[in-house]
Amino acid sequence: MKNFKGLANQSELETLLADLVAIESVNPAYKGGERGEIAVGEYVADYIRKLGIEPEFQPVLPGRPNILGRLQGAHDACLIFEAHMDTVTADPMPDAFTPLVREGRLYGRGACDDKASLAAMMYALKLLKEYAAGGHAAVLLAAVIDEEVAYRGALKLAESKPRAQGAVVGEPTNLVPVIAHKGVVRFRIRTRGRAVHTSRMQEGINAIYPMVEAIQALREQVEPRLSARALPRLGAPTLCVSVIHGGLQVNMVPDECVIEIDRRTVPGETADEALAEIDAALDSVRQREPSYRIERLAPDLLDYALDTPRGAKIAQVARKACETIRGETEFGTAPYGSDASKLAELAHIPSIVLGPGDIAQAHTGDEWVELMQVVQAAEIYAQLAVEFVRYDH
Ligand SMILES: [Zn+2]
Repeated sequence: MKNFKGLANQSELETLLADLVAIESVNPAYKGGERGEIAVGEYVADYIRKLGIEPEFQPVLPGRPNILGRLQGAHDACLIFEAHMDTVTADPMPDAFTPLVREGRLYGRGACDDKASLAAMMYALKLLKEYAAGGHAAVLLAAVIDEEVAYRGALKLAESKPRAQGAVVGEPTNLVPVIAHKGVVRFRIRTRGRAVHTSRMQEGINAIYPMVEAIQALREQVEPRLSARALPRLGAPTLCVSVIHGGLQVNMVPDECVIEIDRRTVPGETADEALAEIDAALDSVRQREPSYRIERLAPDLLDYALDTPRGAKIAQVARKACETIRGETEFGTAPYGSDASKLAELAHIPSIVLGPGDIAQAHTGDEWVELMQVVQAAEIYAQLAVEFVRYDH
């Protein structure tokens, strides 16, 4: 049985990661993002071509394909290694695309989120090719777009129904295999009134007042139910009124008020159920005051919670691979969402999140990753592909 511990070459991985960081791939929805992920995609395609893998450019958005590559194995088993190519904006990071190595860390935008995982997955294919002689699961490497905004790359990948018995999504988890995280549903609530000059206030309808009552109803009726649903590892689902807009100027009765809500779901809750609970609270306000015009709008963004059983093969094998390379390992949960829940929910592939780096360094002005973790990640991914086959036999 192949053991990959110590087989990854740190300086090769450092070069690979530095190359990826030096290629700007800010998501076009963010400041400074113009080209999208395509230049990173071409780099990934070239890299796997050199390993004898023909890259597939899976169309997602104009000029923004996912890059897929399949490393054949000697067995039927197939795994997905997925990482995203886009980053958040370079601000406020100086020299964001000039990778700097200092004291065992590599600094730069995307160093941690998510190019460290991407580099480690690419390099794992090389390790498998060199050392495993086909004695591993087939691996579909998926370098996807748009994770930072609307995860359209992961949705496209899931929609294409890839045949796989497990997926590893690379995100900064400090090399802890994460099997559960929350989902989210974001939506708006709008109240309407009638605008008049404040000197004739009696003739108008103030849209802010029903909103005050709507928010109160959410706090009094929905919030307590959420705290009662707390899970041991993930905590309680949450509801946050995070944006409010209402009124145009101080001498006008406001005719509209809008709030935006971020509702984090836990495994077992669906978005529909979460929204039904909101609607019931709003109904109670309408019943008290039938003249109020309150509407809950269709969700702007929806994401599923991740809840992979500890006993799932992918979870067990990932944990074992982590132990082989790093020693004793426990499962973890994440406070953020990831592409893993889309692969699990829409493509029915048991999925985990596992990657180098700490989420605390992502999206900041001081993004870095510890190179030793990137090395270990590559070894863990390769180990996992070998042990995934062995688990059945
Ligand atoms: Zn990420």
